[in-house]
Amino acid sequence: MKQTPPHIAILPGPGISHLIPFVELARRLVVHHELHVTCIIPCTPDDHPPSDATKAVLESLPKRNAHTIFLPPVNFDDLPNDTNPSRKNTLTMTRSLPSIHHVLKSLASSASTTALFVDPFGLDALDIAKELDISFYLFFPTNAMSLSLVLHLPKLDEIAASYDFMRDLPEPVKLPGCPPLRGGDLFASIQDRRTDTYKERVQFAKRIVSAGGIDGIIFNSFMDIEPDAIRALQERRIGGSVMPIYPVGPIVQTGSIGQINKDSECLTWLDNQPRGSVLYVSFGSGGTLSYDQVTELAFGLEMSGQRFIWVVKRPNNKFPNAAYLSHRPQGPFKPLDFLPHGFVERTKGRGLVVDFWAPQARVLGHSSTGGFLSHCGWSSTLESFLYGVPLIAWPLFAEQKLNAVLLVERLKVALRPKADEDGLIRRKEIACVVKALMEGTGEEGRIVRERTKALKDSTSKALDKDGSSARALSELASTLKTTASN
Ligand code: UDP
Repeated sequence: MKQTPPHIAILPGPGISHLIPFVELARRLVVHHELHVTCIIPCTPDDHPPSDATKAVLESLPKRNAHTIFLPPVNFDDLPNDTNPSRKNTLTMTRSLPSIHHVLKSLASSASTTALFVDPFGLDALDIAKELDISFYLFFPTNAMSLSLVLHLPKLDEIAASYDFMRDLPEPVKLPGCPPLRGGDLFASIQDRRTDTYKERVQFAKRIVSAGGIDGIIFNSFMDIEPDAIRALQERRIGGSVMPIYPVGPIVQTGSIGQINKDSECLTWLDNQPRGSVLYVSFGSGGTLSYDQVTELAFGLEMSGQRFIWVVKRPNNKFPNAAYLSHRPQGPFKPLDFLPHGFVERTKGRGLVVDFWAPQARVLGHSSTGGFLSHCGWSSTLESFLYGVPLIAWPLFAEQKLNAVLLVERLKVALRPKADEDGLIRRKEIACVVKALMEGTGEEGRIVRERTKALKDSTSKALDKDGSSARALSELASTLKTTASN
């Protein structure tokens, strides 16, 4: 008799950049391992009804054996207007718990759900999974170094007890198998130890370390880029026993997410540029620069004399992640409101300014693209590895400074421009780093381009049938099948 394939539910965190790796992970489990998946999507007030980008991501799932349930949008009417987007992230998950409970209860009875895969922001759903007797897996859509820092946080909290700010730590933080991290390079959310967010993160880490009820941790990295860090995690005992970990990366978007007309504008423009000549400039789904920094970047790109596509978001002087949960442009695009006078005209022909969103995977995969100035979001980073595009590391928030350390100091696939004392990266520095990357001049530029080429091959190999990540995913799928048949 043929067995019914296991059914799993996935619960990504809010924001398109969390949705993308979850959906891609689900897609691979459905296509390569014949699992059935239901995606439970928490909604912020801004992403209701879902944006075209959200719908496009979900459309990459096979129609058969994959379903989507949108939760009712949470209410933020009580929050001050200037609430940090990352705080809204956490609140979206906690405020969605009653609807998550409702949906999971019905899935557990109707679809015999075996397991729940949850974004770290949704750790509180662990109690629901236990009540319903469903296995619980955390999926960190980031790397081994970030996971290792989370597991180290309870101890770090004791070490840092006499400091208000992590940036003041006198010694670098040494995580097993990782490059040493200066205090200022740790997660943005734990920099100020006096905040509620810091305390929440420590509680969250303590809950993971105690490990009660977590069946495994999945993350988006692979052996070739973090061999020692992954091995250290594999050996680490959590809650008295070795916790199964699954390095299944690179899990990145495979298609184009965007709007057809805008996509073709970008890609047609690229079609007409020389091979490897264009620098793609993007700060991810939600990264924003201050007004002054936008001005410096515009002049820096202009002074570099290089070709570029710049995905521009409205500047924000308060938050580096101001556009994080917005999913779509806020009002009509008026670049003249914030780009230097005459910039668009002066760079016409060699520069393209794009409003808010570009079909990134296709831009990076295009033969005219030769460099990526990136905020070092982990998905963007993996996409640049996969397409062999060397990077300029410009981290802004979340775990991006950690990623920059990995890219610049360990993997040597990125150049990093220096900020001056007031935190601004000036136009001359930008022009100089852009030229070094795009022309491969100087020792560092040359090394970065060579190392990127080598990494492209090992990134694809991780996904080959016998690659380390494909094997980790098969192991996970067979564990789920065994659980389902018991
Ligand atoms: N992305 C895109 N077009 C854009 C900006 C982002 O397709 O204009 C995609 C990008 O390819 C990646 C994700 O959105 O898959 C961004 O994730 P990442 O982890 O790099 O950064 P975050 O948005 O979380 O800061």
